[in-house]
Order: sequence, then C-alpha cells, then structure tokens
Amino acid sequence: MAHIERFAPSPTGPLHLGHAYSALTAWDRALANGGAFLLRIEDIDQSRCRPEWEQQIFDDLEWLGIYWPKPVMRQSTRLPIYRRAIDDLWREGLLYPCNCTRKDIAEAICAPQEGVGPDGVIYPGTCRDKINACREYPAPFKPLRLNMAMAGFYGDSRVGDEVFYFTETGGGPKGESGLIEFTAEEAVKNIGDIVLARRGMGTSYHLSVVLDDAFQGITHVTRGQDLFETTKIHVILQKLLGLPTPVYHHHALIRDESGKRLAKRDDARAIARFRAEGAGPADIRRMVRL
Ligand code: GLU
Repeated sequence: MAHIERFAPSPTGPLHLGHAYSALTAWDRALANGGAFLLRIEDIDQSRCRPEWEQQIFDDLEWLGIYWPKPVMRQSTRLPIYRRAIDDLWREGLLYPCNCTRKDIAEAICAPQEGVGPDGVIYPGTCRDKINACREYPAPFKPLRLNMAMAGFYGDSRVGDEVFYFTETGGGPKGESGLIEFTAEEAVKNIGDIVLARRGMGTSYHLSVVLDDAFQGITHVTRGQDLFETTKIHVILQKLLGLPTPVYHHHALIRDESGKRLAKRDDARAIARFRAEGAGPADIRRMVRL
C-alpha cells in the first residue's frame, strides 16, 4: 500500500519544537515505509499569514533534513476548489447561513462549559431554524454552517444510525487507538453545527484540509493529539464529499517544563532560535526524543 505523509503548517509564526516533532515523525514514517512526504502551506487566513514565516518554514525544514517535491502546494491558490465543494454541499441542503457573533452564541447558551467541542463552543442552532425560510443562494464569503443532524441523515440512514469511523495508529488524549467509531448522534451532540465557510474566506480549515489531503493523495496523516477529536469532523466531511479517509496517527504533544503545550508565539522554543544558538538537527531530535 502506498504511504504518503504530509506536514501542513500555517505561516503565522515560527516553527517550534512541537512542529519539528510532527514534521520529523511524518518524515521518518514516510521513509520507514518507502513512501513519500509532501508539504502544504495552509494560508487561507491571509490576515495572519506572512511570506517571511513561510520562508522560515522552508529553511527550518531543510535544515532539519526534510525534503519535499516542489513547487509547494499553497491553499491560497485553491479557493475556487473550496468554493465548488461549498456549492455542492449547499445544493444538497447541508449548509445554512449564520451571522451569529461570539456574543450572540454566548448569550444563547445557558451553561457554556457544558457545550465545548473540537471546534469550540457547540453552536446552539439559532440560525438553523431559519433554514427553510432562507434558501436563497448566499453571497460568496458569507459564513455558512454545516447542519450536522442532516449530515448524519445523509446516505439514507436513519438519524443516529450512521456510524463513522477511522483508523488510529497513534493515540488520542485518552489512549484511544485502533478502529475509532462514533455515531451521527454523538457528532450532533459533541461537535454540532460547525462553520464550513468562514466570514470573508469562503472556506475553513476543516473543509480545506480534507479536500487537500485527498487532492494530494495523502494516505497517512501524522499530527498532534490536540487534533484527535477534530478528526471526527474531517471523517464526516470526507464521507459527505465522497473522499477517502486516510489512516491517522496522532502523537503526544511537546510541552514546556510546566506541562503547557507550546504555542506559535513561544519564541523561546522556536527552531530558528536553537539554530542561532548553534544547535544542530541531531540536538532537535534529541530534545523531542526522536
Ligand atoms: N495548519 C494546521 C496547523 O498548523 C494543520 C493541522 C493538520 O495537520 O491538519 O495546525
């Protein structure tokens, strides 16, 4: 079986030890399996992406000894593809417009701590009820949500009966591995109606990532454990869009001394900083225990 891995950073800041761990793990797994490693620049949020961060990503990865086929793929060149997928889902009645602000959502929820899923606060459904009233085709770049209950119905199954699954070869935060199953009913309750087309963007991380993984022929996705629950969103979208589901390998997160996971702004652990201080790629591997 072909083994195609990828690393998909967003050029919104310096790569740190956590990114190095992800990229090196994917790279090592590609090599060990006689496969390929691809790079994808996830730059749909143009307000936060910078060319200098992109260049820094290329430099850091090459310095780590990682190579990829050129030219690199950039999500910002694929907006029409995302738009087409949004159109298809809209035509199938699976999306609805939503103009709720964070404040509107917070006000509509009585106990917010009870309703947080992999994509943040679970949407209370305020605009969903207007769905039949408003079937007018939305202007591009208006926010659109996925009707998760309808997504569960998709494929003629009865509500709650649809079972989604993926194979996990790493582990989730609770040690989940092997065949991971979840029902449409769970997705409605624990994920809810996520935004698939963000305001001013016409797409979202979730939509772009599944379309691009399929387009690049990715068979194995290696990424941090923080995205384990998010994978359920991706599996649902793959099913709706008729795309294959890769094998997922979620790895543990690299944390600082106090146990906090590293963030983009955590410059102290930026690869560039270690480089400037004279560390070599082998030192980075040692620091992330690879
Ligand atoms: N661009 C995303 C990030 O940097 C990629 C996540 C993924 O690997 O799917 O977090």
